[in-house]
Parts: sequence; structure tokens; C-alpha cells
Amino acid sequence: MKAVQLTAHGAPGQFRIAELPNLIAGPGEVVVAVRACGLNHLDLWLEEGNLPIPIQLPRTPGSEVAGQIIQTGPGIGAWKAGDRVAVQSNLFCGQCEFCERGQESLCLRGQLLGVDRDGGFAEQVLVPERSLVRLPDQVSYECSAALTLAGSTAMHMLTDRVEIQPGNWVLVVGGASGVGSAAIQIARGLSARVIATASNDAKKALALKLGAEQVVDPVSEAWPAEVRKLTGKRGVDVVVEHVGGTILEQSLNCLARGGTIVTCGATASRDVQLNLWPLFVKEHRLVGSYGRTRRDLVSTLDWAAAGKLQAVIDRAVGLSETPAAFAALRNRTVLGKAVVVP
Ligand SMILES: [Zn+2]
Repeated sequence: MKAVQLTAHGAPGQFRIAELPNLIAGPGEVVVAVRACGLNHLDLWLEEGNLPIPIQLPRTPGSEVAGQIIQTGPGIGAWKAGDRVAVQSNLFCGQCEFCERGQESLCLRGQLLGVDRDGGFAEQVLVPERSLVRLPDQVSYECSAALTLAGSTAMHMLTDRVEIQPGNWVLVVGGASGVGSAAIQIARGLSARVIATASNDAKKALALKLGAEQVVDPVSEAWPAEVRKLTGKRGVDVVVEHVGGTILEQSLNCLARGGTIVTCGATASRDVQLNLWPLFVKEHRLVGSYGRTRRDLVSTLDWAAAGKLQAVIDRAVGLSETPAAFAALRNRTVLGKAVVVP
């Protein structure tokens, strides 16, 4: 089988297309023929070696897998060859105290598919049975690969980590990104009013099309004042944040009293300066959100099957074009998602 392997870190890193032996499923495992795999900022961090965990090279990246089971290992009864599946890429042990409580995103022995072990930019991938979710007939492989990681990240943020009330104002940072485009739709599905940030006309148009009622440009330093103005000087109840750095600092100025910033990433910078005075005086919350649970993935696919969550696919490319897709994501020329179709 063919697989894209990262052989040296860098920006760009070095890749090769390798011919590897077919995978064999052990006990509790299945081999999935990858039909589509989405590209995420996580893949760029892996490429650059910019993750606070040791990475063994060569490594096949790719976390957002949709495909068809081609082999089941011993002890697997619920699945068979030919089944259409999506994979929960936060691989969890199913046994630790957090997994037992259904908080798989906090698993003590969690592994990231495509980081800690070989992922989906390949013709085949080996995954544990417990990470599988059935792909509804109405959801295509490409749609799943464009939604399941970014979409379920947004689902986890908006349904597990914060509580959205109908009529709440939600600010979605980076409204045209993978997480942002899903967060706009989920917030609207929860009857919230949405303001998004977007930095060019195409991204603004996309955010509006997905359901944002206003879009502000974060390049202007005054954008938090604009958000306050749009909400009648009140501010927003929730900010969906994944950029970090200055944008997170400025997002604090967009919050209403009692408001919450929920953050799942830091693509610009992991360091922020925090003024504690407004944080405690206005009873703000800064909430972390990591990955998803299997339940979030099921909800995401259910929303997609019901037509409430659309995938925004910028491009679908073959395995050999994977490095070019990495470059496009780094250069911020991807609107929505890039998907690799092996
Ligand atoms: Zn666990």
C-alpha cells in the first residue's frame, strides 16, 4: 500500500511516497481503506516538529479519516469488511478514570492518530475498534473527512465545554477555517446569534453564507470595539477561539459580563498576557477544550446527515499532492478544508 511519510521536520518538511506492506489487524483492531482524510493545523505542527511531544520519524500524518473496513482483527463482532466508518482520532484507552466517565478527550493514555502512530494520508490505516463511528449513508467520505475532526472539535467546544442559550451572542474567530466554519453552523443550530472574524472578502462571504450575521476584520486593531458596537455595547456571551496570542487577548475585550472564551488551539501563538482585573470583576471564564469524545463525533455526523452541518471543501487532492496541500494550508490559501483522497 502507498503512504505519505514525513521523513524530516521543517517548514516545509521532507516527504516521500512509500510503498509499504499491507496492514494486518491485531486483536481489537481493524484495517480501514482510507477513502478521504482531511488536513488540519495539527498536521502542520507535526511537519514542523512543533509539538510538545516526541515524534518518531518517518511518520504518516493524517488524523481525519473516513473509509471502509477491509479487515477485522480477532474478537471483533460489531463490524465487518465493507462497513463505512469515520475514525475518532483522539485514540482513547476506554479504561482510565476519565474514559469511564465518558471524558475520552482527557484520557490518561490518549494517542493522536497521525502523530503518535501512523495516520490517514495512506491507502490503509490501522485503528482500534473503539475509535470507529458508523458513517451515515447520507454523508460522503469527503464530507466526513472535511468535518469529523474540525467539526467535532467545534461540537465539543459548543456543546460540552460551554452552554449556549437561545439568543446568546457567539463570536467565532477565523470564521472561514475548519473549526470556525463548523462553529458558525453549530452555534446557529443552537439558536445563537453569530459574529465571525474574517480577513478577506472570500472568507467574509463564506462566514456570512454559513450563518454569521456580521463579520469583522481582525486586521484592524479596533475590531473588539466593533464587536461591542454590533451587540449594542453589551459584548458576546461566548467566543470560540483557536488562534491564541494577540487575538485571544483582544477577544477578552469582546466579552459581555459573565462571558466565556472557549479555546481549542493556538495557531498564531501559545503565549498570552492576561489582565486579571476585568477577568474577575466581570466574572469571565477562559475554558480549555481538547479534541472530542466519540459522542461528539456521532453528533457531528448526525448533524451532517440531517443537513444542519455542511462541509466546506476547498480542494480534494491525491496522495502525491499531499505536500502541496500542506504548503497551501501554511500559506493560508485554503478556504474551509483540504482533503486528501488516496
Ligand atoms: Zn482513557
